[in-house]
Amino acid sequence: MPPRTRDPSSDPFREASPDASAGGAEPRRVLSGELIELLAAQLGTDAILTDPSETFVYENDGSILHPAAPSAVVFPRSTEDVGHVVRTCTAFDVPYVARGAGTGLSGGAMALDGGVVVALNRMDRILDVDVFNRRLTAQPGVTNLALSRAVAEHDLYYAPDPSSQAVCTIGGNVAHNSGGPHTLKYGVTVNHVVGLELVLPDGSIVNVGGSERGGYDLLALLTGSEGTLGIVTAVTVRLLRKPEAVRTLLAAFATPLQASRAVSAIIAAGIVPAALEMLDAEVVAALEAAFGFRFPTGAGALLVVESDGPREGIDEEAETIAALCRDHEAIHVRLAADEAERNEVWKARKQAFGALGRVAPNYCTQDGVIPRTRLPEILERIAEIGERHQLRVANVFHAGDGNLHPCILFDERDQDQARRVVTAGAEILRACVELGGSLSGEHGIGVEKREWMAAMFAEQDLALMERLRNAFDPRRLCNPLKILPTGGRCVELAPSRRQAAL
Ligand SMILES: Cc1cc2nc3c(=O)[nH]c(=O)nc-3n(C[C@H](O)[C@H](O)[C@H](O)COP(=O)(O)OP(=O)(O)OC[C@H]3O[C@@H](n4cnc5c(N)ncnc54)[C@H](O)[C@@H]3O)c2cc1C
Repeated sequence: MPPRTRDPSSDPFREASPDASAGGAEPRRVLSGELIELLAAQLGTDAILTDPSETFVYENDGSILHPAAPSAVVFPRSTEDVGHVVRTCTAFDVPYVARGAGTGLSGGAMALDGGVVVALNRMDRILDVDVFNRRLTAQPGVTNLALSRAVAEHDLYYAPDPSSQAVCTIGGNVAHNSGGPHTLKYGVTVNHVVGLELVLPDGSIVNVGGSERGGYDLLALLTGSEGTLGIVTAVTVRLLRKPEAVRTLLAAFATPLQASRAVSAIIAAGIVPAALEMLDAEVVAALEAAFGFRFPTGAGALLVVESDGPREGIDEEAETIAALCRDHEAIHVRLAADEAERNEVWKARKQAFGALGRVAPNYCTQDGVIPRTRLPEILERIAEIGERHQLRVANVFHAGDGNLHPCILFDERDQDQARRVVTAGAEILRACVELGGSLSGEHGIGVEKREWMAAMFAEQDLALMERLRNAFDPRRLCNPLKILPTGGRCVELAPSRRQAAL
């Protein structure tokens, strides 16, 4: 195999200045009256926003560090509407970007080129439920949780469960190949999507997946493509039968190091829990302060471990996990006695991000991956990076699959602090790559990490991705300036209205 080349003298993490990595946004475009009229003719006037006071809320996603003002926001109701929007924008050379709930954490749904946001929230119908074949087809604006709720009466559910599942959409999940606490055992979105309908950048409508097999695996290509290869207008997912039995255990340790060793021991014992999550002392304190959860005194780290499956053998597995935690110096281990206690444990895990919102005005959630065995090392490095930049970092993450979520706490009104957050985030991700991990586990690359892609991929790899993207979207109007490095197109951040007002 010929060598894959990467310029050894270049350091994408250093070269990406905070401003460049944070944006590249251009000011709003002034759209022609003719373009607006054509859009309104198909969608109706109540499906278009152009006034900045109304489009303002679409300037950010969950990451808040990459604001960009769209020139318009449109709300299609059908696949035909989406096709019309794509063809019209293309005819006027105006870029566009799909948007679900806007909970993304890498700046993916921002109209960086001042283009049109295609908000899919009105495409929120479940189109078909096939209980016999365990399939469900939905429009892209249906929320993740609504999928499971729609089939709960049949004892079925949709497995990938991002912590944002009450609001994030299945279209956004497909675009980011989202995961969640239970993906350790059940896999991420790509393992559960069996069919997609999408509008390609040339305006045509295609269906991929379904019962046809053979040829290129387009489902795998499109899942995780972050809305850069087309707009998903329908998704068919596989449903699973609810497990017969579930056991949930909370283990407290004095230090994250001890908790990390317990994680390795559980996996080394050949157990694949349904979920294996870690919360550090900063998160524990925030949860106690915000919601009055009472965790064991002296807890420097918590593990939430869940086993599920047939009733037979489940108690033995839970007992083995508890014993392994005790062997690794757990100061407290508690098996949830009933459904109410189990819900309480998950409430703590799922409200962790909300609790952090009370500790600092803002936080930036990073999303790096490391080999599980390197957990102790990376946690030490994250702590060191936080201290050096005088920033508090809280960790709540999917420990079982080595998917970290260091949350850097800050106040966006302090611009120096915001800059240090970007630099510290880059250093954390650099450490993940150096330890043999990667830049993203489930939040995507978006605009946030695009310049750092060169730290992970060789020139040839990136060139292949460029060629692939050009094959779908030669004019680069479909969610431009995301995922792939811009090669020096480092435009100064255009301040959002919100930032300008601060
Ligand atoms: C508190 C919190 C917790 C979270 N926990 C998790 C977690 O546990 N696991 C996890 O994986 N993520 C998590 N996330 C991140 C986020 O919720 C997911 O990435 C989610 O899939 C985004 O869905 P969305 O509908 O909000 O998409 P958006 O943010 O609106 O968009 C995300 C990307 O998808 C593209 N897109 C959206 N809809 C379409 C479509 N129909 N066709 C093509 N492209 C489209 C957009 O262009 C953008 O690039 C969390 C976020 C928050 C705020």
